[in-house]
Amino acid sequence: MRPDVLNPLFAEIDGLEGVGPKLKKPLGKLGLERVRDVLYHLPERFVVRRAVTDLDDAQVGEQVVVPLTVVEHRASRSPRGPYRVLTRDEPGNICTLTYFGRASYTAKKQLPVGEKRWVAGRLDQYDQMLQIVHPDHVAEESADAMGRMVEPVYRLAEGLTQPRVSSLAEQALERAPSLPEWIEPTTLEREAWPTWREAIAAAHGGEATKARDRLAYDELFANALALMLVRQQNRARKGQALQGDGALRERLQLPFPLTGAQRRSIDEIAGDMAQASPMLRLLQGDVGAGKTVVALEAMLVAVEAGAQAAMLAPTELLARQHFDSLRALARPTGVEIALLTGRDKGRARESILMGLLDGSIDIVVGTHAIFQDTVSYRNLGLVVIDEQHRFGVGQRLMLTQKGRVTPHTLTMTATPIPRTLVLANHGEMEVSRLDELPPGRQAIDTRVLPIDRMDDIAAAVGRHVESGQQAYWVCPMVRESETMDDDLAAAEARYAALKERFGDDVVLVHGQLAPELKDEGMRRFAAGEAKVLVATTVIEVGVDVPNATLMVIEQAERFGLAQLHQLRGRVGRGSEKSTCLLLRSAELSETGKKRLELMKTSQDGFHLAEEDLKLRGGGELLGTRQSGEEGFNIASMEQVTKLIDMANADAKLLVESQGGLDNPHRGEAARIVLYLLQRDWGVQTLRGG
Ligand code: ADP
Ligand code: MG
Repeated sequence: MRPDVLNPLFAEIDGLEGVGPKLKKPLGKLGLERVRDVLYHLPERFVVRRAVTDLDDAQVGEQVVVPLTVVEHRASRSPRGPYRVLTRDEPGNICTLTYFGRASYTAKKQLPVGEKRWVAGRLDQYDQMLQIVHPDHVAEESADAMGRMVEPVYRLAEGLTQPRVSSLAEQALERAPSLPEWIEPTTLEREAWPTWREAIAAAHGGEATKARDRLAYDELFANALALMLVRQQNRARKGQALQGDGALRERLQLPFPLTGAQRRSIDEIAGDMAQASPMLRLLQGDVGAGKTVVALEAMLVAVEAGAQAAMLAPTELLARQHFDSLRALARPTGVEIALLTGRDKGRARESILMGLLDGSIDIVVGTHAIFQDTVSYRNLGLVVIDEQHRFGVGQRLMLTQKGRVTPHTLTMTATPIPRTLVLANHGEMEVSRLDELPPGRQAIDTRVLPIDRMDDIAAAVGRHVESGQQAYWVCPMVRESETMDDDLAAAEARYAALKERFGDDVVLVHGQLAPELKDEGMRRFAAGEAKVLVATTVIEVGVDVPNATLMVIEQAERFGLAQLHQLRGRVGRGSEKSTCLLLRSAELSETGKKRLELMKTSQDGFHLAEEDLKLRGGGELLGTRQSGEEGFNIASMEQVTKLIDMANADAKLLVESQGGLDNPHRGEAARIVLYLLQRDWGVQTLRGG
């Protein structure tokens, strides 16, 4: 239920003046659908202008507001040429206002000869002459009437302008109600933060560090709070204690001894499963650390105790891979393992459903099809979720709330999340870490190359393919909707270019393909029918093709190091030596280069993730917001590092010693912020509780 006070913020964006059907599309592209979205669409930066009367006092490149008298209009002889308006400042300096295209119509109207106008824009020099190209504002009144000297610059989509978005933000701010305070009073006082309403207004108005921090803190606090509530609720749920007798595990004939980390993780998991309250545990292990065996042992514990286990994979291909490797490993135990995906229909599906219901199937592997309403289990005791970063907390919980008894949950991730972020993203869970790789792994030869050596690189791929091996070619895909199409275009263009060279040996796979096509492309590559797989980051998740021993990653600087490491982990899976080529843009800052060089020095995902966090947390690489891996919409990496401990401590205090959502002073406010920030953090599950 939405708290009433939030109704104005959740009104549709059409309610704002000037928003018609035409604007809704570009606004939607930016994720702006409701008034609250506009409020949280914070400026990317600000233009700060200075008022001057004598242009000799201003610097070239400076943003100024200046009174100018119009001298003459000069249209260009060619229709495509610039339209120039000659003006003079008070002391008599000549300044040209230059317009291209349709903008000249506006110029004609706004700048009658002989009149004085206040002009705002960036002062440039052209042919020894001062000029302002496309002034931001032209007004008849003095500088005050020109609006702010500090002007926000918003992220735009095609069809939107800065003044338009500014106007929407102003209207949204007028509608923003005062909200009750959810922040712990001592924190609020110590940090000297403004109220939510003041903060959101200030954040649109200028470089307001405190306001921005408060808004970031809201997000971190709400996140921590939700996770703690989930954890608390989970403890109160009814689960079943599963204590295996080891009979099945004894029969496993693993071709290798388990690593110490694997053994320790298995013990931790079995310890949790022996408790009556449902397990919520994260198994974090670098690519190749051997999570599958750990999961299998956990599932065998469940089966030994007379229950069933289900493993959920994000894609059909991965489900099949898990199924194959689990079946091979578990053969000596005689347990019954089935695969269930959305593709199974008719008799085959019926028979699996029957087996799950009567308990003749012990373990099922599949996509989310295994949690559809039509699927019932005799006694589901354990759910293993692979690569869960695609699932939010709420989704995670929903999966396990099918029966009367909540099954234990083991979530596996290969993302080497730094410690601070584990808490932020998975704080409702206990963590087991596979921090030791199985012995004998080869380091992947990693090189950083500027993109302008493209011909050499394509030739290297050619030689590689001729030698009978396969290669990945990764193009970046960032979250920002505005650039998404460009990225896709880039991947498609690269595919087309490589296709000229390699013909049908190349396949393209990206997130916007229909699932069947995507699976088909992946399948052809996995089967060795295709030699080069051009992909956006969809391949990040778990593909296993041992014969693929070369990986090329374009625009590597746009990825987080942890993500690069994960991508790189797709090669080096067979006995052949593997190579990873990181292509960077020709012009990259020294820090940017240094950051990529780190990839050469370490094969340890956790180390890389921590180093990357330090570099980026230090604020050195702001603006390289990568693929949403931080998991926050408002808080920057820098703010996360700065504020997360505080947010966690305050959330803990509220939940554990101040009555949580039932706190008479701040309980309602806490509900409000959880709703306001609209994340999938299991809030729906809080409602009933
Ligand atoms: P991931 O953690 O990426 O899922 P996998 O479970 O797929 O890793 O394991 C990667 C490879 O390592 C598999 O071929 C697996 O059989 C092997 N492996 C797992 N554990 C060990 C071990 N203790 N010693 C040697 N090889 C192992
Ligand atoms: Mg795996």
